[in-house]
Amino acid sequence: MDTILDLQQVSKIYKSGNRSLTVLDDINFSIPAGSTMSIVGPSGSGKTTLLGLCAGLDRATSGTVALHGTRLNGLSEDQLAAVRNQYVGFIFQNFQLLPTLTALENVMVPLELRGEKNIRPRALDLLDKVGLAERSHHYPTQLSGGEQQRVSLARAFSNEPRILFADEPTGNLDADTSVKVVKLLFDLNKEAGTTLVLVTHDLELAARTQRIVRIKGGKLTSDELNNI
Ligand code: ADP
Repeated sequence: MDTILDLQQVSKIYKSGNRSLTVLDDINFSIPAGSTMSIVGPSGSGKTTLLGLCAGLDRATSGTVALHGTRLNGLSEDQLAAVRNQYVGFIFQNFQLLPTLTALENVMVPLELRGEKNIRPRALDLLDKVGLAERSHHYPTQLSGGEQQRVSLARAFSNEPRILFADEPTGNLDADTSVKVVKLLFDLNKEAGTTLVLVTHDLELAARTQRIVRIKGGKLTSDELNNI
């Protein structure tokens, strides 16, 4: 199986004045394309930072991150954005929808950025897929948390990503909505072969992915395959 993401000796150090904080320390793993994986660990252990580095939203202090065969380290901001637009979907815990745009317009943004045509009907199709076509003209504040998360899923699906990163995708959702969102994620993996990388506190959700990586204090402490 092809490797979609490869991390070698990745560290992240935040510096503030003359103090430095090592948030990730010598992380190594690679992810086969089409697979599903969870990253679990206590709060503050570096999970969100790790996800950001893998997705090209942030840069490692040392080590290499290669996404779809492209080393992200030496890329300019524009090149990094191009790699993200081409291969990556990202779902944030707090949704990060643009408040001044409707649900439909939020989903249209990445399509517009990619210079695609017929973006309105495509964005509507995506909203339909997550069951929100009727809410397309609502603004984020007019939507429930679960609805906002589904808009953010539609937005993340819009570039048909090869790899989708989700930071606590069910963290802010009630049980029923959480089941719907998780189904959408695993359907995408099955139907489109999209690689899923989830950060989650939900061990039941983690148990549904093929592999669980645990981190603690910025170090990878275990890397296990699930029996599914
Ligand atoms: P987790 O997702 O496991 O809760 P995070 O990756 O959010 O952990 O944070 C790991 C550590 O890095 C925390 O101690 C946090 O305070 C610190 N941290 C995260 N982002 C920054 C930043 N931009 N500057 C300085 N420290 C940060």
